[in-house]
Amino acid sequence: MLQLDRVTARYDRLTALKDISLTIGQGEMVGVFGHNGAGKTTLLKCGVGAHKHIEGVITVNGERIIPGEVHRNVRIGIGFVPQGRNVFGDLSVEQNLKIAGLMHDPDYVSQVYKLFPILEQRRRQRAGTLSGGQQQMLALGMALMTKPKILLLDEPTTGLAPIIVKEVLRTLREINRTLSTTIVIVEQNVRATLKVVQRAIVLKSGRLVFDGPSDELGRQEDLWALF
Ligand code: ATP
Repeated sequence: MLQLDRVTARYDRLTALKDISLTIGQGEMVGVFGHNGAGKTTLLKCGVGAHKHIEGVITVNGERIIPGEVHRNVRIGIGFVPQGRNVFGDLSVEQNLKIAGLMHDPDYVSQVYKLFPILEQRRRQRAGTLSGGQQQMLALGMALMTKPKILLLDEPTTGLAPIIVKEVLRTLREINRTLSTTIVIVEQNVRATLKVVQRAIVLKSGRLVFDGPSDELGRQEDLWALF
């Protein structure tokens, strides 16, 4: 369970998140939406402890997330996939996965291959030569190598063709179902994401303006007015 209790986050004088309280239960899959600058990335960074300047308390299963101590926070079960293709382009697919799992269980690679058969087919290929969608799958696979209880993803479908967007989102749903991993996904592809998440959160200028079932948000005729 991920819990934020009255979290405010700042960059110098700019307040990026204002007094956010929310609880995300084990096994939930949640979409986080909002315009550019709404505070979505900052929310994820706070979750993994990558943002130092916060007020309030963040816990994972009762354990406190310590701002600035990402390595330690990852060890209590948080996986974070930042925006962009975060793979080592000169290394093979399998080397990327094994490096990601070095501090955990490098043999878990076989489990990751079950979720991403394409990565097994390309295991010896240099990661930099994979397509954009495949690199995103690899970045996801690398995060899974730490066996996270909670996976935080920042716009994993950016720049991908619509059919690949669907595939990435479908795979995330499968990870959520089969491994019971809690998933929090920041997305600009709102409609496609609403189809796979159960719950939606909307941020506007650092404040929580919607938190409810995804179909409720999807039904709102003035969906975009919320943003
Ligand atoms: P986007 O969709 O563009 O990624 P976002 O909703 O993820 O936007 P954040 O990146 O969390 O929003 O930014 C929230 C606010 O904090 C914005 O006003 C942004 O300009 C500001 N901000 C983000 N990162 C920094 C930084 N490193 N230094 C100063 N201000 C920042």
